[in-house]
Amino acid sequence: MERTLVLLKPDAVERRLIGRILAIYEEKGLNITALRMLKPTREIAEVHYQEHRDKPFFSELVAFLTRGKVCALIIEGENVVKTVRKINGATDPAEAEAGTIRGRFALSKGENLVHASDSVDSAEREIAIWFPGLAD
Ligand code: UDP
Ligand code: MG
Repeated sequence: MERTLVLLKPDAVERRLIGRILAIYEEKGLNITALRMLKPTREIAEVHYQEHRDKPFFSELVAFLTRGKVCALIIEGENVVKTVRKINGATDPAEAEAGTIRGRFALSKGENLVHASDSVDSAEREIAIWFPGLAD
């Protein structure tokens, strides 16, 4: 079964949106198979977002992800990588469809509430970061 790694970022936790966001994934029929809350270290944030290390927004992104607790999830299901990206919506909430999590609840391109892996390979890499005991 396909797996993906989802993060409810610090803005989602601060805004007390965890329950509403989890409900959206569950209502879709997806299975949340692991869940933990933690305040990411700088190292975890940098490794997680390593593909963006040369981007101008990288240091701001790492500061954002490490400023408070996140809720990390593994979600499993058929085509779950693509399905969760669709439910989350486009990176920029101004571009996100109105029914998506970012379209409904976010305004900022930086503080856009959720992360989801962009491929099966990324998912396995990211699961190993956030759930080292559950890596394949
Ligand atoms: N981000 C940002 N400014 C940008 C692009 C991205 O702050 O111009 C942040 C935003 O939080 C985004 C994350 O960096 O979710 C990772 O960017 P990516 O392009 O991978 O978007 P995602 O996969 O989260 O949709
Ligand atoms: Mg991405």
